[in-house]
Amino acid sequence: MILIDGKKAAAELREELKKEVTDLKTKYNKVPGLTVILIGDMTPSQIYVRNKEKSANEVGLKSEVIKYPDTVEEEIVLKKIEELNNDDSVSGILVQLPLPKHIDKQKVIEKIIPSKDVDGFHPMNVGNLSSGYESSIPCTPLGCYLLIKKIESNLSGKKAVIVGRSNLNGKPMTQLLLKENCTVTITHSKTKDLKAECLEADIIVAAVGIPELVKGDWVKKDTIVIDVGINKTDNGIVGDVDFDEVSKNAKALTPVPGGVGPMTIACLLKNTIECFKRSQI
Ligand code: NAD
Repeated sequence: MILIDGKKAAAELREELKKEVTDLKTKYNKVPGLTVILIGDMTPSQIYVRNKEKSANEVGLKSEVIKYPDTVEEEIVLKKIEELNNDDSVSGILVQLPLPKHIDKQKVIEKIIPSKDVDGFHPMNVGNLSSGYESSIPCTPLGCYLLIKKIESNLSGKKAVIVGRSNLNGKPMTQLLLKENCTVTITHSKTKDLKAECLEADIIVAAVGIPELVKGDWVKKDTIVIDVGINKTDNGIVGDVDFDEVSKNAKALTPVPGGVGPMTIACLLKNTIECFKRSQI
């Protein structure tokens, strides 16, 4: 079984991006800039944002974090986004989710100009991705896609089963694999026989949020299994895939932690650079 090392893949991607940023600096005499808005003091969000800032600096991006208390008015956040939309030194804008209840998430997502939407959540980018046009691609599914491609470069005709249909993971993942000519089945909480669906798969991507849902006897030999889940349990952090069991059958599997997680941040940097390049045309 191939253990898919997300940490190593992310480090390699960051190295490539660092070189690209150096070249862009030579060509345009400026570097791509990422601005993150962080609202409130939730510890996981603070850790994510700190890691994003650190990684952005590592590859040579200009990075900025704007912090607001969780009592900030929605109008102030929307005004700040407007300001960043019009700021040429900002290539990408990300508002760290989740948001306090009094702030309308969709309003915030739609306020970010699609050309700076590094999360790929704006309806325009969602539509472009599903139509096969150029767009920002949500970072986690993009990371999963790059890991799958490292194992198998030609995915044409493969049967992929996506477990979970969230806008963040399952749906964009489906679009990415469709574009690669996979036959994609998207499953969810109302799917009748998840095990039977998974047993058909050459590729499984699990993004559910249920600890160790995907069992060893759900996976046929030679399946690539990507585990997006991050679940806190009494035994520590585990994924949506039963790692010990599935590793006996799968062709390749991502660990949790150290699989998809590190690729998510590297892909955010990649998206920022892509936004910058598109803005220079
Ligand atoms: P979500 O809660 O938005 O969506 C979960 C999906 O799973 C839903 O579509 C639901 O229909 C489906 N589902 C629920 N129960 C099911 C069942 N029994 N069988 C099949 N499908 C079922 O979740 P999300 O935001 O996509 O996150 C999923 C997991 O991925 C979470 O553990 C989250 O922490 C993790 N996550 C990891 C990263 C990363 O960088 N590695 C990024 C984002 C999310």
